[in-house]
Amino acid sequence: MAHATSQPEAVSGTERARGRFAPSPTGDLHLGSAAAGLVAWLLARSAGASFVLRVEDLDTPRVVQGTVQRQLDDLRWLGLDWDEGPAVGGPNAPYVQSERCNLYAEAIASLARRDLVYLCDCSRAEVARVASAPHAGEEGPRYPGLCREHGMRERAWKRPPAVRLRVPDDAVITVRDRFQGDFTQDVARSVGDFVLRRGDGVYAYQLAVVVDDLAMRIGEVARAVDLLDSAPRQVLLARLLGGTQPTFAHLPLILAHDGARLAKRARGVPIRDRRDAGQRPESLVAELACLLGLVDAGASEVAPRALLDVFDPSRLDGRREVRLPPPRNA
Ligand code: GLU
Repeated sequence: MAHATSQPEAVSGTERARGRFAPSPTGDLHLGSAAAGLVAWLLARSAGASFVLRVEDLDTPRVVQGTVQRQLDDLRWLGLDWDEGPAVGGPNAPYVQSERCNLYAEAIASLARRDLVYLCDCSRAEVARVASAPHAGEEGPRYPGLCREHGMRERAWKRPPAVRLRVPDDAVITVRDRFQGDFTQDVARSVGDFVLRRGDGVYAYQLAVVVDDLAMRIGEVARAVDLLDSAPRQVLLARLLGGTQPTFAHLPLILAHDGARLAKRARGVPIRDRRDAGQRPESLVAELACLLGLVDAGASEVAPRALLDVFDPSRLDGRREVRLPPPRNA
């Protein structure tokens, strides 16, 4: 396991390579998620790969009713299509994560048979008290392994237990990223034993995304760079589940002009607002392509199919963020 590197692998036989876009229906698509969908589509289509759309709706408290349809509608409006996914079906159906929980349960059972998971009823406060070094990430401090020795044994629970992965000590993973170069993480030291199923029974993003990317035989994962930190965990899990992990392409994050995260900004950013204000989809695609540097500044309208003809992914190399211009009335 030590110093494993994610290697691009040739796709076997006659099977077409596959790309995917996997939005969470927690709100309307904003410029950043639309850019991720556009680049994922461009990478897949330019490689002659199938494009899969998957709905990542496991975090039910954050799911907003009606959003799935609105996201699909916004993607179609932009001019993006998919070969497999909601509304079109396909050999890997269902394409909605809440309908795939049996696969996540099987993955945990397979890890449990090899003593690679354990039950943990620690609260966040307990973890924070014992953790030696605060972890800078959004997910809180590194888990100090308090419940590790108990394995999957039933005990008197303080609260419904989560399932954690027993991260091997020597899991130093290098992700070879198409845009960001090599990214190495010592998963045990920087993240620790991460959660695969929460105490409330919700399967964690890290598990579901790996199980689905393996099951759907995704060749390349394209998404925004804020998920780069998750990629080593996902490579580790893919290996422990006996699969070939995809390669990665983490594209720059689109931020507001002042550096704020778009997801935290409601007004003016959902592409719905642009639609409702009468902007044409080709104009929005041109705006995204200019921002990302895929076309020269000044392009006013381009459809995704036309962008495909001039698409040069190397123009995204090494960039971690791009900022929107300040609003005109600021
Ligand atoms: N569902 C995640 C999101 O919307 C993306 C997951 C991924 O692409 O791996 O942020």
